[in-house]
Amino acid sequence: MSVFHADKKFERFEDVTPELLKKEGVKLLMCDLDNTLRLHSEKEPADELADWVYEIKNAGVKIVVISNNGRKKMMQKFCEPLGIDCVWWAKKPVSTKLTEMMQRFKIAPSDAVMLGDKWSTDVLAAKFAKVRSWQVEHRKDIL
Ligand SMILES: [Mg+2]
Repeated sequence: MSVFHADKKFERFEDVTPELLKKEGVKLLMCDLDNTLRLHSEKEPADELADWVYEIKNAGVKIVVISNNGRKKMMQKFCEPLGIDCVWWAKKPVSTKLTEMMQRFKIAPSDAVMLGDKWSTDVLAAKFAKVRSWQVEHRKDIL
């Protein structure tokens, strides 16, 4: 796959279903937060997000958040009710945090995916970490 393109593209995170993850042999789903799982302005997880996370975990897939957002308290407060670990200030496209997560869960790069909205951070970090890059459309606040 070209470095310039994500391996798969989706409209929204909900399009990444437990069935698809199973079919693709994904054991670890690493997700960007802002404009991927939530709008930047959302302070707490939407019901759709909570339901989606629940279904993915229920399918036996590990899911974590890896964000470049540096607001640690906000990140923890957002991810805690979802019951998922989060990494803040990840400095993507640097892939260190992705690699650390795979080591922590003992998951091979071939069994992991990085899901995010941005090529210059999420897709590139996935390429550097040698995991599959799945891209969602950038979610925008409608004001
Ligand atoms: Mg983002």
